Amino acid sequence: MATLRFLALKELLNRKPINPDHQGQLTSSYFAKNVFDKQKMKRHLSKEAYEHVTGAIEKGIKIDRKMSDQIALGMKNWAIENGATHYTHWFHPLTDTTAEKHDAFIVIDKDGDVVENFSGDLLVQQEPDASSFPSGGIRNTFEARGYTAWDVSSPAFIVGTTLCVPTVFVSYTGEALDYKMPLLKALTEVEKAALDVCQYFSKTVTKVTCNLGWEQEYFLIDEGLFMARPDLMLTDRTLMGHSSSKDQQLDDHYFSSIPERVIAYMEDFEHEAYTLGIPIKTRHNEVAPNQFEVATIFEEANLANDHNQLIMDIMKRVARKHNFRVVFHEKPFKDINGSGKHSNWSLTTDTGINLFSPGKNPRTNTQFLTFLLNAMKAVCNHQDILLASILTTSNMHRLGAHEAPPSIISIFLGNELTRILGELEQVVPDSEMTPDEKTSIKLNIGKLPEILLDNTDRNRTSPFAFTGNRFEFRAVGSSANCASALIVLNTIMANQLKNFKIEVDRLIENGVKKDEAILQILKQYIKDTKCICFDGNGYSQNWVKEAARRGLTNTTNIPDGIKAYLKEKSIKVFGETGVFTEKELEARVEVELEKFIKKTQIESRVLGDIALNHIIPTVVRYMNTLIQNAQGLKDVFSEHSDYNELMDDRLSLIKETSEHIQSIKNKVRNMTKARKVANRQNSMNDKACLYDTTVRPYLDDIRYHIDKLEMIVDDEMWPMPKYRELLFAR
Ligand code: ADP
Ligand code: MG
Repeated sequence: MATLRFLALKELLNRKPINPDHQGQLTSSYFAKNVFDKQKMKRHLSKEAYEHVTGAIEKGIKIDRKMSDQIALGMKNWAIENGATHYTHWFHPLTDTTAEKHDAFIVIDKDGDVVENFSGDLLVQQEPDASSFPSGGIRNTFEARGYTAWDVSSPAFIVGTTLCVPTVFVSYTGEALDYKMPLLKALTEVEKAALDVCQYFSKTVTKVTCNLGWEQEYFLIDEGLFMARPDLMLTDRTLMGHSSSKDQQLDDHYFSSIPERVIAYMEDFEHEAYTLGIPIKTRHNEVAPNQFEVATIFEEANLANDHNQLIMDIMKRVARKHNFRVVFHEKPFKDINGSGKHSNWSLTTDTGINLFSPGKNPRTNTQFLTFLLNAMKAVCNHQDILLASILTTSNMHRLGAHEAPPSIISIFLGNELTRILGELEQVVPDSEMTPDEKTSIKLNIGKLPEILLDNTDRNRTSPFAFTGNRFEFRAVGSSANCASALIVLNTIMANQLKNFKIEVDRLIENGVKKDEAILQILKQYIKDTKCICFDGNGYSQNWVKEAARRGLTNTTNIPDGIKAYLKEKSIKVFGETGVFTEKELEARVEVELEKFIKKTQIESRVLGDIALNHIIPTVVRYMNTLIQNAQGLKDVFSEHSDYNELMDDRLSLIKETSEHIQSIKNKVRNMTKARKVANRQNSMNDKACLYDTTVRPYLDDIRYHIDKLEMIVDDEMWPMPKYRELLFAR
């Protein structure tokens, strides 16, 4: 009987690269073809309508009813010209994907004829049933209704034959049910707070923009092999599988030449991404076999995040055309590198200054140090919620394992910057400075750019690293909506910048000169943030101990880690910035706990099924061949001098195999019991804690026996693709 595994392997022998027919087209000739950007708006909207939209995009001015009708009409005409027949509000619910519900443009007019129509009302707001999306209890207390509302700042686009309008998703009572709404709030807050602080250094700045440059890692697995693994199909990771004799120990995959089938796939999804205005810049092989990366040129954070969500969708879809499945799970393979989504974060001004980049003179460098130290202070004060923002059921397998940042948030600055801050701390006195001291500071600060330009060293083990002109948040998981991390990062930065301004202004009111006031506060921040700075090896056990001594949070335990959102300090920072109310925070925590419970429950069920229905029957068949063999030996060899030794060998193999089977059976039974007990808990928190402590450990326990059996059973009988096949076949 041919198993799916062998059929899939056979199929693989015939796989060829599927080269897309658009190869070789000049990217700039079709870039953003399917985006209703300013250029297209200009062509399809009246001057008045165009000015309204750009005013809304740039200054947040509200669009009135009459104008929205005009804009909708222009948008519809453009969409129809480009083959669209449907439209959808596209949003980011609190699941792992985006959501859309397509409606045709058609309506029946008064003469009974079908015509295309798209009104301002439909563009601006819609009312999908919110009851099937996670809401963390918000929908139980109130009505099931939810609203999607147009996010003017992110342009509409066409995918296939559908016009997609980016929207926020809120409950009937106004609470956010998505990632976009709080992200937009956090961005507004950070941009406002940064603009205020910029005024100390330049009166010409009128706008600050937050940027995000993401680097998306992923695995590709041949479709046939993927389909032969129920665990990959249903949980996106392998719940069993003995390690391959060769995996990544030779470091021969990283940056090596990209396999032909894979490059054909990359070109195909990149082409679609370019039509949607996603500025993909980089593609390469990653460290693990069959692991790859795609990265874009950084953009305004909300747009960049929409683009990231969009590309994950495109990549999944296009992969099927190439007989691949793309896996975004952070840890699909045990003991092999996981996948992250490095999130490069910066703030820039409309005068062309990157606030995390040292400038040309002491003034711009003080500005740089101000933003640097405020970011450090924000992360230092709120490392626990920053950690909570990236803790997910899948990412917790990656953090702290195999070349992944640890689950302790720390900041890497590099030797030079650390030294400069150290000097600054010494130079600036607490009280008034003499003119000489001031000059000395200016000289020191003036030297920054030359020193930093060549000296931004890299430390791959740091979860939050300063990389010369930005911070790179490396702990973000590959499957995550990076808005989750950006919401926290920008909220704490906004709050911190506001506090900084209050502190500086207070000193100024007390007669301290502006520059001195700023330096005094910065000096304090240098002292305050020492506990979060760490340039050493983040993978080492010593750091774990040291971090504990410094009082830094270190947990990958979801029920525990996620609760950081509900600490008084966290509620305060979200409340003061207006990003989340306490109720919204409670709802988010509830949603995260529920996701954790459900995912663990699914994994546990899938492993139970694999163990009982796939592995044990196979092993029993193999054992029967051993028993037959033993019987045969008895018939043929019983007079032979080696007989006893031979028999002992066979019997001990049968015994070992049988013991593994017994252990698996017992453990699956106990795991099911543990699930039942956990399911009976009333509170989400109790349930999550029980899933964590009493169900989850069985996953590794059961796997242990299955992986041992994989090394015992005849390879031809083994029903599921092995690690060597999943990792090397392509
Ligand atoms: P590496 O893998 O060495 O970190 P990559 O070139 O793969 O570097 O990715 C760097 C990412 O950082 C890209 O998305 C890039 O656009 C982004 N980036 C560069 N400068 C900035 C900046 N000032 N602000 C935000 N992102 C940035
Ligand atoms: Mg990087």
